[in-house]
Amino acid sequence: MAKYVFLDTETTGLDPHKGNHRIIDLACVEYEDSTPTGHVFNLKINPEGKKSVKSAFRVHGILDEELEGKPTFSDIHQQFIEFIKDRHLVIFNAAFDLRFLNAELNRVNYPSTVSDICAEVTCAMELAKSKFGVRKISQDAACLRYNIDISSRTKHSALLDASLCAELFFKLLDDSVEPLESTPQQNKHTPTKAISIPRAFKNKETGLYTQLNFCKNPECKNFGVVAKNPTYKANGELKRGLGNEYKLTWSDDKSEHLLTCKLCGHSTTMIHNRCFELEVKRLSTIYEPVEPTCQNKAIPGQPKTFRPYYIPTSPENRRGIKKFKPRCKNRDKGIYTHPELYKLDGKAQPDRIIERVVKKPTRKGGKPVTQIIKEEKLGSQLLTCHACNSKLTVKLNPANRHYRDADNVKIFKELMNKDILNRMMEKHELGAKVIYDKINFFYEQALAFDHYHSQMIDHAVATRTLSLSSDRQFYLSNWGDHNMPKPTPIVNTSTVDNHSGFVFVSDVNFDFTSDYQEINKEHREKKSRKSSLITDATRNTY
Ligand SMILES: [Zn+2]
Ligand SMILES: [Zn+2]
Repeated sequence: MAKYVFLDTETTGLDPHKGNHRIIDLACVEYEDSTPTGHVFNLKINPEGKKSVKSAFRVHGILDEELEGKPTFSDIHQQFIEFIKDRHLVIFNAAFDLRFLNAELNRVNYPSTVSDICAEVTCAMELAKSKFGVRKISQDAACLRYNIDISSRTKHSALLDASLCAELFFKLLDDSVEPLESTPQQNKHTPTKAISIPRAFKNKETGLYTQLNFCKNPECKNFGVVAKNPTYKANGELKRGLGNEYKLTWSDDKSEHLLTCKLCGHSTTMIHNRCFELEVKRLSTIYEPVEPTCQNKAIPGQPKTFRPYYIPTSPENRRGIKKFKPRCKNRDKGIYTHPELYKLDGKAQPDRIIERVVKKPTRKGGKPVTQIIKEEKLGSQLLTCHACNSKLTVKLNPANRHYRDADNVKIFKELMNKDILNRMMEKHELGAKVIYDKINFFYEQALAFDHYHSQMIDHAVATRTLSLSSDRQFYLSNWGDHNMPKPTPIVNTSTVDNHSGFVFVSDVNFDFTSDYQEINKEHREKKSRKSSLITDATRNTY
């Protein structure tokens, strides 16, 4: 004959130490072998002002107000100790309950712990885990494997859980009862789940949050006011609708939810803030010029990225022992932004002056004039990385050793004039890949140009008063129609920094909404009336 005491608690939270959480429901049920003796210790306990956290409340459903006027743990601890003294205590997930009980005993300055008071403590969860051969199991899942009915319970209470624990414990001890091999699926009543507003994204560098789910109508009061998630009622149920003046609606094809403003009715798609930030970051790196860096970019697990070097064993065998250079800490640090990390180490290729013979066309019949033009071609600079002592070369002239670099200017102009790629390949006798490589090259050069001038203007703005020049120029542009006889004047106004050449603004003063057919019609009417050539429509655009 063995006597057991089955124990369970409900608490205000998960941690008795960090969160200072308390026991609010305590139940001990005594069994003799597998029959209850009817001896029960079950009490609600006043947590002395500590409130249940939301997640804990959803488990036990005990309101904070219910516990007012109940005895505190110090009132009942003598009775409790009497009940469990020298008994065999069985708890599901004993570690959790013991931590709380010992914390409570410590609070009332009781000198010993629960394990000292009892004769023995058994964890039913550990027993179930070893029996089922799993690493994790809940009390519900363990009960389901033994066909123990748990459907009557929607909320956890200490007494019910302790009785279920007893039923489970005797099944676990009884080797004649075979448990199911896996936990059966149960059609539990699932409460309606709210669709939540995507979480705000915290930028780790700046500490700022991004939350883009708000009304996008700039004239609305809700503009920039972030939508809030639905709130819970006192009994743990979800309130209908969102937390503030927004509602969720379906898109036309019912494929996604839209955030609709209750004030102005404006709908926007929901934005995943993290994805948005990552995409902005990705796009901004496209416009970052790529700087040359130390080449020892060894990536662990990718042998091809390791640069080898050789230690000669004899004058004949210069490639004696092959070794790999380790990853360098300067691998992400560019030579322009971190010049102190690199050392200039002479020229890998010297500067040269080359002479080119240029034939200038003359009028028909005359001899062509030939002229010798001297051009300076910059070589390549050799640099040494201070950290790993390896060398890298940087072209001083970007077009140096560039395939067919003499054609670069022509191809660039043709691209600007929206020439057809097939025609360009034919004309220059180049493959498509070369043309595309050149497009990439032009793009990189344009970025470098822009980057250089932006840096110049940053410096200029910081250090001195700016000297700016503004100018305007008139262009005459033809409509893309031969029947339109009149060229349209366009004014271009530009403002440029004199020192760096940085263009602040270059604006074409042209009304894009004007319709050339209407202008044409007006022009013909006026022409028939033999009036001024400049139409009112074009004059309005100034
Ligand atoms: Zn609105
Ligand atoms: Zn290095």
